[in-house]
Amino acid sequence: MKRAKKIILISHCILNQNSVVKPYARKQEEFLKFLQNKILNNYGIIQLPCPELTIHGLKRWGHVKDQFEHPGFLEESKKLLFPILNQIENYLKNGYEIDGIYGISGSPSCGVNTTCRADWEGEASCYESLEDIKSRVKLVSEKGIFMEVLESLLKEKNISLNFYDVDEWSEKID
Ligand code: SF4
Repeated sequence: MKRAKKIILISHCILNQNSVVKPYARKQEEFLKFLQNKILNNYGIIQLPCPELTIHGLKRWGHVKDQFEHPGFLEESKKLLFPILNQIENYLKNGYEIDGIYGISGSPSCGVNTTCRADWEGEASCYESLEDIKSRVKLVSEKGIFMEVLESLLKEKNISLNFYDVDEWSEKID
């Protein structure tokens, strides 16, 4: 069979909800319609690495974007993304179409249109209560840190790709 030469890139947890910070794992089938649509249309699927699982492990606390905005996290994100960037470059040079990069709305790392911010730092005991901690979180209209790094690495190579949040894309085909 002739290959379709069509590719998408997706956040790691779209295929592996085991990587998600507790208690936010969803049923894997929530992504079925999206994945089925892409597979039936003969797209190849590249799974991005999960930066939070790689850098902070399975027992990590939930974070906000502000906590990842430091040189160490940025450097580790770049290291994780270099092999992906090489693949993207290679596919594009060989005439493959990259339909887009699909992230996770609200994630401090992989959000595309929305991410979460808060002035969190230190021990939870620094705050008045759990409610105080939660009330500081704001959803803002910007990319998560990992998607920002990916976008800037692509820009350095003059590559422009579309970014989507998978949920917003899925709503369009309901
Ligand atoms: S960091 Fe990204 S890939 Fe990992 S669990 Fe969060 S949204 Fe999913």
